[in-house]
Order: sequence, then C-alpha cells, then structure tokens
Amino acid sequence: MNRLICSLCNKEYSLNEKIWKCDCEGLLDIDFKAKFPLEKIKTRQPNMWRYREAIPIDNDSNIVSFNEGFTPILEFVFEGRPVLIKQDHLFQTGSFKDRGASVLVSKIKELGIDYVIEDSSGNAGCAVSAYCAKAHIDCEIFVPQDIQESKLKQIKSYGAKVNKVSESREKAAESVLKYVQDQYYASHCWNPFFFQGTKTLAYEICEQLGWKAPDSIVLPVGNGSLLLGVFIGFNDLLKAGIIKKIPKIIAVQSKNCAPLYIAFKNKLDNVFPISKLNTIAEGISISNPVRGKQIIEAVKISKGDFIAVSENKIKTSLKEMYKKGFYIEPTSAVAIAGLKEYLHQLSKSELIVSVFTGHGLKK
Ligand SMILES: *Cc1c(COP(=O)(O)O)cnc(C)c1O
Ligand SMILES: [Zn+2]
Repeated sequence: MNRLICSLCNKEYSLNEKIWKCDCEGLLDIDFKAKFPLEKIKTRQPNMWRYREAIPIDNDSNIVSFNEGFTPILEFVFEGRPVLIKQDHLFQTGSFKDRGASVLVSKIKELGIDYVIEDSSGNAGCAVSAYCAKAHIDCEIFVPQDIQESKLKQIKSYGAKVNKVSESREKAAESVLKYVQDQYYASHCWNPFFFQGTKTLAYEICEQLGWKAPDSIVLPVGNGSLLLGVFIGFNDLLKAGIIKKIPKIIAVQSKNCAPLYIAFKNKLDNVFPISKLNTIAEGISISNPVRGKQIIEAVKISKGDFIAVSENKIKTSLKEMYKKGFYIEPTSAVAIAGLKEYLHQLSKSELIVSVFTGHGLKK
C-alpha cells in the first residue's frame, strides 16, 4: 500500500521518488489507501482539501491551494428529467484542472523540485502555471501553434515560460516527451498525482448527495484526466465502504475526434490514433490519449458507455446553456449534448450527475 506502481510491469516505487514514468517507460499509477473520517470532514473548510486523509501528500506545509473545490451542484431539467450539474468551471484558473494541479504541485513542492515541464492546449497549462506561481516553482509549458490566444495569455501572465511547438498538439506532446527525459514532467496525462486531485470531484458529488453515489455520471473525455480521476475517486469511496456501487460512467466525445468511442464500439482494448477533424470542443480534441486503455477499462468496469456527439449538437447545447445563464466553454457543452442523448436512450429514472468543466470567459 501507498506506492507508485507501473501499469505495464508492476514494478513498485516509493511515492517520494522523483519519477513520472517507470524504468520500462510504462505509465505509473498510485496505490494509496484513502481514508474518510466523515465526522472530521464535516467540520472542515468547504474545499477539496477537506478530504485530507484521502490525498497522498505527507506534510500539510507542502499543500499548494487556493481553497479550491466544493463547487455548487445545481439541478437542471433536460427532456423533462432532473439532472444535477457540478459547477466545476468555478475555479481559480477557470477549469476543474485546478483540482489536479493543486495536488500535483503540492507533491512537486514536497519532493523539493523547483522546475517542471508540462504540455497542454490550454486549461491544464493554465492550472499548472498558476499553482507553480503560488509555490515559486519554475515551469515551462509546451503549447501547440493553434492554442487559443486567451489561454496563452493566461499561461504567460502567471510567469510560465512558453514553448510554442510548430504544428499540432500531438507534435507538442511528442517533442515534450523527448525534452523531458531527465526533468520532472508535470503532465496531466502521465503524472499520477494529477489524478489524485481530480478524484476529489467524485468525493464532493457523493458528499453533496448525502454520501451516496449517483446512478450515472456523464463526462466529456479527451485524455481522461477528469474521467480517470473520477473513477479513482469513486473506487476509493467503494473500498472505504462509504458507497455501495460506482456510478455508470457515460463518456462523451466529439464525433470529429472520437478515438475512445471508436475503440469501445469496436470492442478493442487498445486505442489507436485517429486523424481528427476540427471541433469547437478543443479541450478534448485528443487523437491519441496516452491512458486510452485505462479509460476504456474504467468505463467497462463501471458498466458505462461511450457517446459521440456532432458539432451541431455541441453548438446547440452550448447556446442552450448560455440562455440559462451559464457561460461555459464549448468543450463543456459536449457533456450536455451527450447527456441529452443518454436521456433519450434511458427507460427508467436515474440519479444523474454531469459537470461544467471550463469557464466561458477565456473562450
Ligand atoms: C481538460 C478538459 C476536459 C477533459 O479533458 P481530459 O483530457 O479528458 O481530461 C474537459 N473540458 C475542459 C474545459 C477541459 O479543459
Ligand atoms: Zn514498468
């Protein structure tokens, strides 16, 4: 218990090793016994660090936090049915990625690392840059040529060094992998500590429902930093005996970039890179997700499903949300479009939760 473990060769490492991948190049996961002293949790500040015993940081003095989390969960009605939506666009840097960045940068501080690298098309770069700024850790963000100007500005404002890579996001990820070999990679895909932050979304949902799991959760998915985090979170609660089942994970992609959906529907265990088309859901426009196999497995274990939605449906859902007073980013509307599709297929009533993942102001 409490170790890093390789997803390929099962080699184990201490949580305090300054590594982000296995010697065999495999992805690392974290095995950690999360504890939930419910009486204590109840008395704490309404932020994600109230689940202190579930987060693998040794010393409180290393916590890098803006009191993030415990976002409101609001009721909506779609297709005549009630649905709850977690307001995770309401974060310091404007997306749920702050959950991951808070834990990851805390761990980076704990390890005594003073320089890290990340690559991102936007929100992950913004989150890691802001938390590094707070912790006085230098960071360098690789971004693709076509990054949104607003997100680039935000990353630079926090003082991060920006490395614009020619061509696509896939190329940015490729060149960073070569560059980062001997450095610490603060990646929201590779680094397992990031998921130890995004998992708190599952904790909050259950606590806000009176320590109960919903029947299903509808999530947008690209690299899976949200989906895999949520899967880990629900499993932590299940293992601790707090919930009785994990919700079905309904994973939504844009039809224009749906490698996970395609693999799942073709009953493949592995995900193959696809050539993608443009999508307004640029936050999940990932043609080759490094944790693809894990994402498919998580959805399967949860007895969930994949849904792919058209650009038109995404745009319609986005406008619908605007008209209700929610200024979210287009990627967030993917979940709403998927949610509507899911409700169409559903015969019985279910307790369903979805998430607004990013704020519209930086669009
Ligand atoms: C990162 C992100 C997502 C989820 O993407 P993953 O790559 O699966 O983690 C969804 N919406 C927004 C706005 C994001 O920034
Ligand atoms: Zn290994």
